[in-house]
Amino acid sequence: MTTNGNVSFWYAKDGLPVPRPALAGDMDVDVAIVGAGYTGLWSAYYLAKADPSLRIAVIESRFAGFGASGRNGGWLANTITGGREGYVKSHGRALVGDFQRMLNETVDEVINVAAAEGIDAHIHKGGELLVARNRAQLSRLEAMAKDQLKWPEDDAVRLSGKAMGERIKVAGALGGMYIPHCARIHPARLVRGLARAVESLGVKIHENTLVTEIRAAGNGKGPSAVTERGTVRAAAVLRATEGFTANLAQSHRDWLPMNSSMIVTQPLDSKAWDSIGWQGRETLEDLAHAYVYLQRTDDDRIAIGGRGVPYRYGSRTDMDGATQPATVGALTGILHAMFPAAAGARIEHAWSGVLGVPRDWRATVNFDPATGLGFAGGYVGTGVTATNLAGRTLTDLVLGRKTKATAMPWVNRQVRRWEPEPLRWLAVQGMYAMYHRADEHEKGGRGSTSPIAVIADRISGR
Ligand SMILES: Cc1cc2nc3c(=O)[nH]c(=O)nc-3n(C[C@H](O)[C@H](O)[C@H](O)COP(=O)(O)OP(=O)(O)OC[C@H]3O[C@@H](n4cnc5c(N)ncnc54)[C@H](O)[C@@H]3O)c2cc1C
Repeated sequence: MTTNGNVSFWYAKDGLPVPRPALAGDMDVDVAIVGAGYTGLWSAYYLAKADPSLRIAVIESRFAGFGASGRNGGWLANTITGGREGYVKSHGRALVGDFQRMLNETVDEVINVAAAEGIDAHIHKGGELLVARNRAQLSRLEAMAKDQLKWPEDDAVRLSGKAMGERIKVAGALGGMYIPHCARIHPARLVRGLARAVESLGVKIHENTLVTEIRAAGNGKGPSAVTERGTVRAAAVLRATEGFTANLAQSHRDWLPMNSSMIVTQPLDSKAWDSIGWQGRETLEDLAHAYVYLQRTDDDRIAIGGRGVPYRYGSRTDMDGATQPATVGALTGILHAMFPAAAGARIEHAWSGVLGVPRDWRATVNFDPATGLGFAGGYVGTGVTATNLAGRTLTDLVLGRKTKATAMPWVNRQVRRWEPEPLRWLAVQGMYAMYHRADEHEKGGRGSTSPIAVIADRISGR
């Protein structure tokens, strides 16, 4: 039987963690961080390293790694959330090139810190593969390859159908693209290891403590995080709640909580792997509009994820990772279509998580010294690497340092908010219905992107 939920498959072997003690009452610290996912923990890590005298508290509603950081697809990739072109318009080509190089280097930073801190997160830097599975996808791949010529920083290589098949045999593959700056990871092992690492630096993590309000400095008082168990007063309060941010009243329409769901097979036998290949353990994604992302796990399973039911009315977020049976069925169908050799493998676990989508689909790192408040997020499903750079950037901003990181184009942006309900729900439902229809349309063999997807892109503001 397929396990559904229970946070995610990534906890199935080691078990859900024993909770750390909750906040015991009011407290004064130097920096309070709300949320113990990668963003909150990387921020705590670099702040504690930069100034070991800082008193830092991380306040977490459930447990460290409960959110997307303990549930994701394990792609430690160099993606600039929302793409590069928008930033070229606002900040110029040279800075975006620097941003891309910084994200490339951040992949290695995470790998190096994990090694230095003794975190065994099953990291394998095998690069990232994109695969085109029909002619319309191939036409998008060609356009991407042309665009990549302008971005040598990405080191992308266009692959023929044959070259793609020599790496991974995806049924019906017509071509691919390889980007070397990506590693496969075990998400929960990284976030749990990181939580232990920050504790060893003296940071206090309080679990099972819900922050109900974040207050800015004013009227002679500093900023604070208000919880049901006491108030944490600090010189700086950093919000690191990503897909859950809509639950905080004052931030309800900042980021839309989008669901992403995954399934994982039982370990495949050597006969199946002989026919699939995938010796390089690259991460893999197709070029459908409602795309899927995959990894070959350390213990030889295939984990595959995609959008499923994208959004719940009123920005409702989590059900401890349970996902809809229809989504499990849809992902299983795509898995079998891509890898007929995996068709006999049992689906052992299914789960989902939430990620934060800003109105312009681009991530942000902000800190305002006047209010003492900061935040980072809006990574739209590409936060595994970006959270590390966000944590280092927040550290520099809180400590008042002007660095290369604080000059990056995602720092201190203002983004307009999402529409109120029911417009928000209707727009997202409509958008994904259109993407699914466009994918069906393209399966018919047309040679270019379906116009339905072009309209959906316009509506969504992507
Ligand atoms: C299924 C799935 C697959 C994904 N795959 C990839 C991938 O392969 N590669 C990639 O780059 N990105 C991926 N992502 C996105 C990536 O996981 C996230 O961008 C990243 O983990 C965000 O980290 P975070 O710390 O900002 O947020 P989270 O990990 O969500 O952490 C937020 C934390 O805040 C806590 N919290 C929320 N509200 C409160 C409150 N009021 N008080 C106290 N605590 C609170 C939550 O419990 C949670 O622990 C995926 C996401 C999902 C859901």
